Amino acid sequence: MNINNQNLMDRFIEYVKIDTQSVENSSTYPSTEKQLVLSRLLEKQLRAIGSSNVHLTKHGYVFATLPSNLPKNFKIEVPPIGFIAHVDTSPDVSGAGVKPQIHKNYQGQKIVLPKDNSQIIEPASDPALRNCIGHDIITADGTTLLGADNKAGIAEIMTACEFFLENPEIFHGDIKIAFTVDEEVGQGTKYFDVKEFGATYAYTIDGETAGEIENETFCADTATLLVKGINIHPGYAKNKMINSVKIASDIIAKLPKNSLSPETTDKREGYIHANSMEGNVEKTMVKFLIRDFTIDGLKEKEKLLEDIKNQVLKNYKGASAEIRIDESYRNMRYILDDYPHVVDYAIEAIKRTGLQPHKNLIRGGTDGARLSFMGLPTPNIFTGGHNFHSKREWISLQNMEKATEAIIQLVQVWAEKGEKS
Ligand SMILES: [Zn+2]
Repeated sequence: MNINNQNLMDRFIEYVKIDTQSVENSSTYPSTEKQLVLSRLLEKQLRAIGSSNVHLTKHGYVFATLPSNLPKNFKIEVPPIGFIAHVDTSPDVSGAGVKPQIHKNYQGQKIVLPKDNSQIIEPASDPALRNCIGHDIITADGTTLLGADNKAGIAEIMTACEFFLENPEIFHGDIKIAFTVDEEVGQGTKYFDVKEFGATYAYTIDGETAGEIENETFCADTATLLVKGINIHPGYAKNKMINSVKIASDIIAKLPKNSLSPETTDKREGYIHANSMEGNVEKTMVKFLIRDFTIDGLKEKEKLLEDIKNQVLKNYKGASAEIRIDESYRNMRYILDDYPHVVDYAIEAIKRTGLQPHKNLIRGGTDGARLSFMGLPTPNIFTGGHNFHSKREWISLQNMEKATEAIIQLVQVWAEKGEKS
């Protein structure tokens, strides 16, 4: 396939050099003004390559369209398909002054990052490198993250758009593009107008290993435990004080030690994660993150927490405690299972790139999960990047080409097979 690799690389390098870090608990949207520097650049570049309806929404999303070039009376119904990536980088690691390093024709050696030689990327800790022999590996210099999450996705989508605009003889339906803000702080879809976007189905290009498609996320709730005790001057407290800090600690101590926590689980296992605690004798609040891949599993864990609380409370006459459950997000598979062709077509497209497709779970949430429940079924496709949110982030240029090709193939699979009735 005739993808312009040089443009793909140049775009990626240009984007990662722009600091677009988002921040938690901002009073503005997007959370940082600097994200819009990249959004405005993308708006300009989308116009320059010839996309239609390019605009920056008032919340900082860039929307664009590549109109269908299917002949009138085309025999099958091809719905508008969206591709989505986010401009921001994680608040966890600096994204200012990123200096991309290109390690050409990688041969399996240790990569020591030049500005901090304790930052080492090697096959022992990063087995995916073993599949990248002969590739060009891009890293940061050891002082910042790279920003492949998610600027690789942006560069791949832009390069796929360029491909279709330069090859008008290749048939495709409407292609819808969105570059969002504040994904890393969980706000990426806050003002996303699914109707205005105009796609029937979409794909976030925000995954990691080449060949992967992610069609499952966690189901997530937050459980807030509020314990009320009785405070009395400690000098006069005998038989009167009831210490809510101790009650809350007792409840946490009765959770299983070797299971049901983030640090003891993987794959399909869920957890009850005591994430934060604050309080005094009178009143203590603990926030638990409850996670599972099914709603039933979530409810079981919430019941266990409730049972432990009731059991502990029996030992503290006069105290009270209650647990409030707030829904965060749900496994997108509950939606995607109703539209199996959305994932099947992506698998077919990945096969056509020569990679082995692989379905994966996300032990977290994605913008795609939220969009799926907002009426836009949106699984997640690989970018080729690794070690996101880390100074050891890296990506292979050749796997970025594969991701670009997967987007191009996917658009063609949709044009061949169309909507399932
Ligand atoms: Zn991301």
